[in-house]
Amino acid sequence: MTITNSSTNHYHAALLCPPGMGHIIPFLELAKHLVSHTIITKVTLFIASINNKSSKPQVETNILQSSVKQGLFDIIHLPPIDVPTNANMGTKLAIIMKESIPFIYQEISTMTSPKPTILITELFGSLVLPIAEHFNMSKFVFWPSSAWNVALSLHTPTLDKVVEGEYTDQEEFIRIPGCNPISPCDLFSPFLDRNDQLYHEYLPMCEELRKVDGIFVNTFLELEAKTILALRSGKIYKVPIYPIGPLIREAKKQNCDDENRDHVIDWLDKQEEESVIYVSLGSGYTMSHEQIKEMALGLELSGKKFVWSLRPPSTKAGNDRYLTAGEDAGSNGVPKTRASVSAFPDEFHKIQNRGLVILDWAPQLEILKHSSIGVFVSHCGWNSILESVSCGVPIVGWPLFADQLMNAETMAKEIGIGIRLNVAQSTKVVGSEEIGKTICKIMDKEDIEGCAMRKRVKELKHIAEKAWSQDGPSFCEMTNAFVKISHTNGV
Ligand code: UDP
Repeated sequence: MTITNSSTNHYHAALLCPPGMGHIIPFLELAKHLVSHTIITKVTLFIASINNKSSKPQVETNILQSSVKQGLFDIIHLPPIDVPTNANMGTKLAIIMKESIPFIYQEISTMTSPKPTILITELFGSLVLPIAEHFNMSKFVFWPSSAWNVALSLHTPTLDKVVEGEYTDQEEFIRIPGCNPISPCDLFSPFLDRNDQLYHEYLPMCEELRKVDGIFVNTFLELEAKTILALRSGKIYKVPIYPIGPLIREAKKQNCDDENRDHVIDWLDKQEEESVIYVSLGSGYTMSHEQIKEMALGLELSGKKFVWSLRPPSTKAGNDRYLTAGEDAGSNGVPKTRASVSAFPDEFHKIQNRGLVILDWAPQLEILKHSSIGVFVSHCGWNSILESVSCGVPIVGWPLFADQLMNAETMAKEIGIGIRLNVAQSTKVVGSEEIGKTICKIMDKEDIEGCAMRKRVKELKHIAEKAWSQDGPSFCEMTNAFVKISHTNGV
């Protein structure tokens, strides 16, 4: 079908984004792409948030302000929601999105000229989707993670009926028609305890997911061909799937302190091509003393230089700061927690002459794009994987929680652009020798497997560059989705 923009460009789309930089960043890109490619005329982006008693994280504010300045779409902040502090991350997200429903209802009901006719949200926002029916809107889910992850969620209502006992106690891998089987150890948080509130929040979300007009997945065919074909075969569930990735930011000056940013880039400019390791375990993760110690020893064993983005260690490692990531940076970008640098282990201090440490928000995309970066030691957040692919950088995966375990598996086994480390389940620690050895393998110009991974990621980088060009596959997928609803709904 020939797609003409004029056939689709009269829509107003309302986007509803959960809190957390890992959601906000791709939702901003989705909004930007919809408007700047004239697929949609008007976009309003609603952002839900947690009531965390302190002011909004500076990084989030900076990133949102720079989007607002471009004037492409409106952003509406929904009132912050109180959540129990002891709840796990998924449950907090579910509560925030559920309690935001009356506010989004109120906002949409007062919108005119033109009234929104499309609602796009994320899985955790899917309980909001009945609102779309009320207002006669088309409803979509935007999935800022892998297609394999979509397949699991679409298949969950079926699994719920056929699997007996806990998912994690299954001796066999979890099977989804047409997809790679999933090790029970790699399942994400809702599957860990079927009696937990999170599982009971998650199951109805999966049911809602089955009723949407389409799912936009931040992936592309060459990245997850087998899974995308399985999803499109209808054998898992008949719902239209649109791979529209990679939606990532442009690798230009990012929203972090200019002085810090310039210092990092100047330092990278002085290093040899593909000689430096970039390390980051995500926007909201606090590493334990033990993890930092092993990582530092591993970096030392590798003998390479590094840029390491991390927060001061905690006795309790975890993702508690995920929904408020970036709040450590003051308005000038300087971390408020500089004082706690003394909390780092000796092994960390010992390697300081080999690299740079970034204690607040790192300009990740600019770093990855730099020609001196040879490998990314990553927690395998899906945005980080897409960014690494788009910059042609292979990955050493240290997955921690949520979808990261499945992402790391896809990255290593299906996409073939890196190696997944053996992370101890209870402590989330990896031994330093394994870290050092794996980094060297991937960076070694003589290593056959390392060469193959580097070659593959560079091929994918070129494919990714074309995805959103005019008439590129992801642009066409997105446009097709709206052409289809205009035919179905006669809009
Ligand atoms: N990010 C960044 N600087 C940091 C930490 C994270 O720019 O210091 C960005 C990163 O580039 C990515 C997002 O934050 O776009 C993190 O998303 P991802 O899905 O990789 O992981 P999450 O933090 O959500 O676990």
